[in-house]
Formats: sequence, C-alpha cells, structure tokens
Amino acid sequence: MSSVVLDKVTKVYPGDYLAVDRLSLRAQAGEFLVLLGPSGCGKSTLLRMIAGLEEITEGELWLDGQMANHLAPRDRDVAMVFQSGALYPHRTVRGNIAFPLEIAKSDPAMVRERVTELSKALHIDETLERRPGTLSGGQRQRVAMGRAIVRQPKLFLMDEPLSNLDAGMRTELRMEISALVRSLGVTTIYVTHDQVEALTLADRIAILNRGVLQDVGTPAQIYNDPATAFVAAFLNSQQLNLLAANVRTPQNQYVMLDFGPHRLTMPWSDPRAYAISQHTGGQVLVGLRPDGLAPVPESYDGPSFYGRVRALEYHGHEWLAYLESGMSFAPVPEPPDPARRVNGSKNGSGRLTGLVKRLFSQPEQHQEQERVGQHPNSGIHRRSDLIVRLGNHPVWRAGDPAKVGVDLSRVMIFTLDGARIDPPRR
Ligand code: ADP
Repeated sequence: MSSVVLDKVTKVYPGDYLAVDRLSLRAQAGEFLVLLGPSGCGKSTLLRMIAGLEEITEGELWLDGQMANHLAPRDRDVAMVFQSGALYPHRTVRGNIAFPLEIAKSDPAMVRERVTELSKALHIDETLERRPGTLSGGQRQRVAMGRAIVRQPKLFLMDEPLSNLDAGMRTELRMEISALVRSLGVTTIYVTHDQVEALTLADRIAILNRGVLQDVGTPAQIYNDPATAFVAAFLNSQQLNLLAANVRTPQNQYVMLDFGPHRLTMPWSDPRAYAISQHTGGQVLVGLRPDGLAPVPESYDGPSFYGRVRALEYHGHEWLAYLESGMSFAPVPEPPDPARRVNGSKNGSGRLTGLVKRLFSQPEQHQEQERVGQHPNSGIHRRSDLIVRLGNHPVWRAGDPAKVGVDLSRVMIFTLDGARIDPPRR
C-alpha cells in the first residue's frame, strides 16, 4: 500500500498547453480515490504522471514518503489498467494473468495457485485456457484487471476501465472491482467521467475542471455540500437550477435573495445569512437541485416560486417538470483564465503567461471565457426553465399554473466565480 501526495503539480504539454495546474492532492494508503471530471480536464494526465509515463513540469510527487518525480516507472510498484486492457492475443487467459509473475521468475506452483485464486475472484475461472479473442469485452477487462493485480502492486491506477462495456456489464464489474480492491487493501486511483461510478466506488472523490482541482471529499460530502457551482452542476443526475440573484438586507431585518419576479428571505439565524449579507448590493449565484423543489398548494406561505408548466418529462423512476418562471439562469462558472490567476497572485511572476496561450486559443474555449466574463444577468443563459422533480406522480399538466416550495436548507449559494459563499469544511 502506497500513499500518494501531489504537491502543486503542473503539467504543460508541448505547444504550451496547460493540462494540470498546480494541483495538490493526497491519497491515503489503502484509499480508493476517484478522479472525476469532464473529458479533457486532465485526469489521465494526472494518472500518467503518477505512473511515471508523463513528466511532471512543476511541483512534486511523493510515493510512500519518497520523492518520485524522477523515479523510473518500474521502480514505482504501480499497476495500471486502461480503457481497453491490451492482452497478449496468443497467450491464454492463464498465460496473460500469469505474465507479470513469470517475468519476475516466481515459483511456478505459486503462480498457478495465485492465478487460479484470482480468476475465481474475477469470475473468469471457466475461461482460463481460452485465448482473449474468444472472450466478451467484460471478460477481457477482468483478465486485464487480473494481470494488473496479480503481483500485488502497492498502487493500482485505473483509467476508465469500464467505459467500453455495456451498461449491465459496467454495473456488475463495478461492484466486483470495488469488492476485490477493498479485499486486497491496495491504494487505488481510478479515473472516470461517470458520476455514478465515482459516487458508488470512491472512498473520496477529487473533481477536476480545466486542469484545476475543484473539490475533494467523500461522495456524500461532494454531493450534499459541494465546494463550487461546477461540482454541484456536475454531480447532478438532473440539471442543476443555477439562478442569478441580487442580495438585499431590507432595514437589516433579514437577508433577501431577489430573483426579479421572485424572492427568498433568510432570517439572520440562518448560518449562511452573514456570509450572504457580505454581498449586499451585489449578486450571487443560487443553486437549487430539482429534488430540493416540490409542488405546494396555492395556500402555502413558506419559501416558494411560482410559474407555468411548460413541459413534463417522464424518466421511468420519476417525472420532471419544466416551469417558465421569469427568472435569470446563469451559466456554470469555469475556472478563471490561468494567465490572469498566475499574474494576479502575490508571487506571480507570470511564469505561465506564455504557457497558456493554446488553452485559450481554441474557439470553443474562447466562447467559454467570454461567457464567464459576462454578468450572469446579461442575457446569455444556459436555459430558462426551472426544473422541478415530481416523483412518481405528475401532479401538474402542461400549461398549468404551478407553485413550487423551496427547501431552504438545500439551497446552495455561490459567488459569481462559482465558489461557495460558505465554504464546506472537510
Ligand atoms: P482527460 O483524461 O480528463 O480526458 P487528458 O489528461 O487526457 O484529459 O487531457 C487533458 C488535456 O491535455 C486535453 O485537452 C488533451 O487534449 C491535452 N493533452 C493530452 N495529452 C497530450 C499530449 N501528449 N500533447 C498535448 N496535449 C495533450
């Protein structure tokens, strides 16, 4: 078991592409840590730097208390499994799994016993004498997993190992990976862009966006108490309602979030009230999950919005309602321009100014940056419908007027940069 410490690790690819930006993170010995984020956010780059397959541009990597930036991959005692675990086609399943032990010239009787034992745990003991070409995708991935784990590495790195499998196989193998890795107690770092995989597998999740670490915590911490608007929006099976609100404190009696046609008030006794009041006269972003909203009768006098039902959507296990509410929806803020961040910092010497050119020279990222620079109320909105979760029974029909109760305890409030106004304590 290895502990892994990344200390302000930066990766700049040739062509000045900043793929990972001063990222600090620790995986405890024996921990199952999931790196989660959208495609291109730097997850694989980070994993490859830990494996020694990619050079670290700046910062430090420590494995088990040993400085490892320049340690050869073979000296790191790391095993890796990729999206499509390449197997040796002319070797049997047994031969594939046994390969790392044969290379290490292990005792053949021990090898035989170990391979048999592992193949049982991975449910491929029936296939031991077959060649990879005759196996299903799920079985091949099991063999790749077996080959990686057979020599009991100190650190197990997995890069989207389930993404080529169909949904049923993914769920099955997901549970098996979890059971197997935990029974071995090997420190595991697992890359995925799939939030369900992350939530179900991880001891802790680290979420990245554009090479920047957004949040680290247990699945429950990250889901219920996210550090940024990006994390709240990313870990959401339905879309997050992210609204722009003006902050007011009328006669200092309470704190008001003013959405234009609608308002929410918070008493001073609310633990967030003081932090919100620091933005009086300015704006904040308010995140509401669709399941923190619910239909209420017209007579309801608690915190609420009203609108008209534009559409209902059936999702099998639930209905979602899309409401026209007249409120301003905001785009999810992205991390700020790295060049500006480095130059603006105290000891910023502009070291990365030249390095980030390519990051922002791509057309789509230019657009993103322009959107971030815009005021949330400036007219560019991701969408304009408030999404409400209705559960199994659609109480409304399209065209109905609708009143929506708001669970204030589930309201998340962010600055315009997307950071939580009341940062979570981890
Ligand atoms: P993820 O695993 O999150 O999908 P990656 O770590 O693969 O992301 O890539 C992060 C960014 O770095 C991407 O924009 C990708 O295009 C870029 N990148 C990855 N590998 C290279 C490389 N060898 N040279 C230049 N850019 C790269």
